[in-house]
Amino acid sequence: MRYISTRGTAPDLSFEEAMLTGLARDGGLYVPAEIPKLTAEQIAGMEGQSYEDVAFTVMRPFIGDTFTDDEFRELIANAYAGFGHNARAPLVQLAPNHFLLELFHGPTLAFKDFAMQLIGQMFQKALGRKGDRVTIVGATSGDTGSAAIEAFRGLDNVDVFILYPHGRVSEVQRRQMTTPVESNVHALAVDGDFDDCQARLKDMFNDFAFRDGVKLAGVNSINWGRVLAQVVYYFSSAVSFGAPDREVSFTVPTGNFGDIFAGYIAKRMGLPIKDLVVATNQNDILDRCLKGQGYHKGSVHPSISPSMDIQVSSNFERALFDAYDRDGGAVAQLMTELGQGGFDVSQGAIQVLQGHYKSGRASEEETTAMITHALATMGELLCPHSAVGVKVAEDLRRGDTPMITLATAHPAKFPDAVEAATGIRPPLPARMADLFDRPERLTRVANDLDALKAHIERNLSA
Ligand SMILES: *Cc1c(COP(=O)(O)O)cnc(C)c1O
Repeated sequence: MRYISTRGTAPDLSFEEAMLTGLARDGGLYVPAEIPKLTAEQIAGMEGQSYEDVAFTVMRPFIGDTFTDDEFRELIANAYAGFGHNARAPLVQLAPNHFLLELFHGPTLAFKDFAMQLIGQMFQKALGRKGDRVTIVGATSGDTGSAAIEAFRGLDNVDVFILYPHGRVSEVQRRQMTTPVESNVHALAVDGDFDDCQARLKDMFNDFAFRDGVKLAGVNSINWGRVLAQVVYYFSSAVSFGAPDREVSFTVPTGNFGDIFAGYIAKRMGLPIKDLVVATNQNDILDRCLKGQGYHKGSVHPSISPSMDIQVSSNFERALFDAYDRDGGAVAQLMTELGQGGFDVSQGAIQVLQGHYKSGRASEEETTAMITHALATMGELLCPHSAVGVKVAEDLRRGDTPMITLATAHPAKFPDAVEAATGIRPPLPARMADLFDRPERLTRVANDLDALKAHIERNLSA
């Protein structure tokens, strides 16, 4: 299996190379040269299997000879062993034909753990046998950073630096990043918003001298390995409803478009998905774009669902690449226009996108009202991101097709918004109850490329 860049000029890579690299050297994102299909028998065979077995079947065609079957099974087992629920991704019912897929039972209480725990295992294995090491730099609106630090802390072959927007992450998110004591992980509080963090990260990748000097690697949601790990739970949940013989729909609270794009990959692999619904908060650039209004950047309006406060949705480039018939030149042109403020999507491409994705948005008031309503009528305490999803799903679900809404974080990760809506302050699970007592370690840094580069170079392990 080869991986190609969405901008068409970077060299093709193997799975291992694409995973260790992150961003392509032409500024594009790696995607598989073709999408493997699973047979109906393979999908039907997943019914009743463990999450780990489903994960092996779904991901195996993508990894080529990077790992042997035995190695890959072991990495998967290690990745999910620390989850607080045997099903890994359990389903609960909200209403007739509406179900919640709980993706928050990992060590940092958000769905990012599904991908990051596996990426940690895969990096360690691939680097260990080469005797190589890398510097991972990540930008986060809160959950990617905590999941990355948790997955990589104490591993031998990596230093990890996480850029997060100072003052714009929840206290639980911040403490998950600042309290690990291992010296190979570093939390950097940047004076800026998430898009600034993401822009500085891209700058570092495009600075080839720095990139090669520190052996920069990325684990942001642009990393193909992360998208791949997220394809699994679309299969594990859909088979509970009778796939491949029955269609299901999914609603996905979306920011960087990684999680929803994983759903699209599942569909392309043969999973019968009827609707794939993009749910945004008030930062609704994706909803507007999918409704045909072009992709034009404004400013970020901080919301109670901060992990979706975004204007530049990185993985949307992968969706555009397919919508433009895999024309890397056309995508490169759009991304140049995006640098100047935005772009319009061609008539043909918007039709393709609308064929794959539906969309909706939830305002701040609607999100809070849904948290209140869900507790009163569905018996479920929702985090604000999941509430955005449930609200949009309730608006758009149709017929008797089961709707599965992805619950992307545990309510205790965003206790202020949950308490404001319900009067209940959700407690942390017992396994992390001492989070607020642990000492914090972080560095404030300017939103400045040179300052960030200097800090990273000074703090590398020997
Ligand atoms: C990251 C995140 C999202 C958005 O996921 P994308 O893959 O970036 O679209 C939604 N909710 C939570 C809680 C998150 O951490």
